Amino acid sequence: MIRLQTDAPQFFSDLGDVLRLFYGDVQVSLTDGDVLFEHRFTDEGGLWTDTWRSQGREFTLTRSTPAGNALEIKRARKRQVKGALYGLLKQLTGMRPPWGSLTGIRPTRLLYEGMEAGLTLDEAVQRVQDEFDVSADRAELLGDIARMQAGIREAAPDQFDLYIGIPFCRTRCSYCSFSAGEIGDGRLVKPYVEALLREIALCRDLMREKGMRLRAGYVGGGTPTAIPCAELERILEAAQAAFPGAAEWTVEAGRPDTIDEEKLRMIKARGVGRISVNPQTFNDDTLRRIGRAHTGEETLAAYALARSLGFDDINMDLIAALPGETVEDFSRTLDRVERLAPDSVTVHSLAIKRSSRLHEQLAVAGEGYGQVTREGADEMIALARSRLTAGGWRPYYLYRQKYMAGNLENVGYAKPGKACLYNIGNMEETVSVLALGAGAITKWLFDPRDRDLRIERAPNVRNIEEYIARVDEMVRRKRDVIFSEAPSRQEP
Ligand code: SF4
Repeated sequence: MIRLQTDAPQFFSDLGDVLRLFYGDVQVSLTDGDVLFEHRFTDEGGLWTDTWRSQGREFTLTRSTPAGNALEIKRARKRQVKGALYGLLKQLTGMRPPWGSLTGIRPTRLLYEGMEAGLTLDEAVQRVQDEFDVSADRAELLGDIARMQAGIREAAPDQFDLYIGIPFCRTRCSYCSFSAGEIGDGRLVKPYVEALLREIALCRDLMREKGMRLRAGYVGGGTPTAIPCAELERILEAAQAAFPGAAEWTVEAGRPDTIDEEKLRMIKARGVGRISVNPQTFNDDTLRRIGRAHTGEETLAAYALARSLGFDDINMDLIAALPGETVEDFSRTLDRVERLAPDSVTVHSLAIKRSSRLHEQLAVAGEGYGQVTREGADEMIALARSRLTAGGWRPYYLYRQKYMAGNLENVGYAKPGKACLYNIGNMEETVSVLALGAGAITKWLFDPRDRDLRIERAPNVRNIEEYIARVDEMVRRKRDVIFSEAPSRQEP
């Protein structure tokens, strides 16, 4: 455990994130720990000075005291104290993380921040390298993404996106940390759908009152296709009647073991243009190991069926650094994807969340699990990027997660014209998201020009039975946020 003795305890959690860039999933405390990191801060003579010491080394970062409003000053303080700790850790470990000192989930934001301050795209890319020590390669990726997002990143002020969560899956994957439950005997499906239909109807009234119209709809989960076709159809029908005129609808057909012709025909008949058929890997041994209960052949069959029914916007999700997989295994999965030529491919780096079964399995098996190294994970991600871009897919959105293999990133790649509006809006936070269903979190933007100050969240409870019992309260939470003037906070 690491002990932090810091003059900036308000940034304790952010400082912990910087330490985890170098030491992985390490515990950090302000009071206990066998390795001490000491920090001193002074604000004198118009200079901010942050000094960190540990294990006989020292690193100091100085800058002139910045001007600005309270939020800007706080942000600058956080960046400086993190940057100083990052400098010391680089010295101590000799490592250079690909995303430099960045620990947030949306690195593109820093690019847009630079451009909003008057920099050109190239200058903003350079600034990300200079100020945050982001590698040239990752900074270039951000630039490519900004180019892909040009013209489709922003929504009109009266538009919102819709997320509908179906928190059921046939079996639970070992790396899963979502609020999805196994469908079991299915007894919760009908009451859940009833509650969702009620939430849809009540939110239709909210959106009408607010004068908002739908831009993009997304049905995710869980796995929406895990529930019976007729139930999924009721949800789509109700949502499309309540919120007409969307430019895009996506249904995550996700697990190939939940896809059949009846469901795909229904989804297509309802005008849903975009679906996901997710192999994660084509290696059957890995699929068994991670509890996905389907084979690579089943993925191929589901994909072929969707194509034969006329779907022309299919996404495939892949995960790099799955337990026991080598770079060669991952490369074979890429071979298959290239041959299938889906319209978009989302490449995730495995995130081992503490709430997942995999976290426990790795803790028990240790190195015996054959988990790829940081370098191996990086190689897989680099391979995906070079092969997909060579094949005509372009990166169009990116996010990072905590506990991600090698501190890497998740990247969505798309063929021209196939970038998903919902994914961009959600990740870049350029549009409000009305989110329905258990565990879904509504995110409301009040003034897109002043985003840092005015994004409010209204979370739904995660537990399915509680959601069913308290659905009216979930809508009241949204009303309180959407019609509020002052920032408010709601606990799940
Ligand atoms: S398909 Fe997705 S939501 Fe379902 S168990 Fe697997 S990871 Fe979790």
